[in-house]
Amino acid sequence: MDLPELEALLGPAEPKFRARQIYDALYRQRVSDLLQVTNLPKPLRTRLSEEASVGLPSIERHYDSTDGTRRYLFRLADGKTVETVWMPEEARSTVCISTQVGCPVNCGFCLTALLGLERNLTAGEIAGQVLRVAIDRGLEANIDRLNIVMMGQGEPMLNLADVLKATRLLTDPKGMAISPRRITVSTSGIIPKITELGQAEVRPKLAISLNASTQEQREQIMPITRKYKLNDLLDACRAYPLRPWEKLTCEYVLLKGFNDTDADARRVTKLLANLNAKVNLIALNPGPGIPYETPAPERVASFQNIVQRSLPCFVRKPRGLDVYAACGQLSNNQAQDATGAAGLLPLR
Ligand code: SAH
Ligand code: SF4
Repeated sequence: MDLPELEALLGPAEPKFRARQIYDALYRQRVSDLLQVTNLPKPLRTRLSEEASVGLPSIERHYDSTDGTRRYLFRLADGKTVETVWMPEEARSTVCISTQVGCPVNCGFCLTALLGLERNLTAGEIAGQVLRVAIDRGLEANIDRLNIVMMGQGEPMLNLADVLKATRLLTDPKGMAISPRRITVSTSGIIPKITELGQAEVRPKLAISLNASTQEQREQIMPITRKYKLNDLLDACRAYPLRPWEKLTCEYVLLKGFNDTDADARRVTKLLANLNAKVNLIALNPGPGIPYETPAPERVASFQNIVQRSLPCFVRKPRGLDVYAACGQLSNNQAQDATGAAGLLPLR
């Protein structure tokens, strides 16, 4: 809930500052129980805890990787499960959050696709993943070293209203106070929603999952390309109102022998000409049922070298591969032991 919703919950009989107290307790102090909002009068606290609850996801299990990454399997109020990934680094840390339970988009290289779509997450469930991780990891109130990526389960542009509301909750200086510069949303390319995102006053940075160098190639791995054509997607990116400090991120999953040749790299460079973009290469993270292989590091380096001549180009380091926490691996897998034995286990 945002402030007006909390005011409505309290009703006209309560002074408005009560809603602000609850807002502060939820989003700044991160209470997980309304009875802990001790600056409210006792009767109000009791009434509230009978009528409402702090809808934070609960930690069903967590899986720790040898590289420090922690994958959370969260249980939601209706019993469904969804995943969030915590990636600590020296100077900053990143939380990867989900926007839907499963995903309807059906990309051929992604394990989340195998779940199909179960439902959208609410704004509270999206922002709540960050709060729950912050509580679990004991993050300080001022979490300005935290980056948020909306790159977990789901296609954020198919749940845009709640993604935007969650962004407002995450960025509110009176609440979680995370800068919009530290939040990135990634999309498979739902063109009308990208345009809509560009009109939002408070919005995360935009990343596009490019993943192919031609229309035909992209159709093969991302069937959504039949509906939203590659050229139209790039037009929408060129028309997108980047803020002065913002660059468009283009993600590119490298699939061995499919989209990873030097010719692909040259075509990608051409596609992105006239765009204020940077490229993040992701060598495929494998998984059972995924009919592609990971290219050799030399192939990845050669691809990067070519793109780098024209645009900034980085190789994304896989995090949490051993516990199914890396990009494209989120599939509510419970087979991996929390002790993080090395090597991939079969699904479930
Ligand atoms: N649905 C959104 C955000 C989640 S996926 C999207 O597709 O953009 C986040 C990133 O992981 C995307 O760029 C996607 O292309 C990439 N990805 C998916 N499966 C992958 C895999 N098996 N290995 C590496 N990256 C993968
Ligand atoms: Fe969905 Fe993104 Fe996976 Fe495609 S890559 S299936 S859009 S989560």
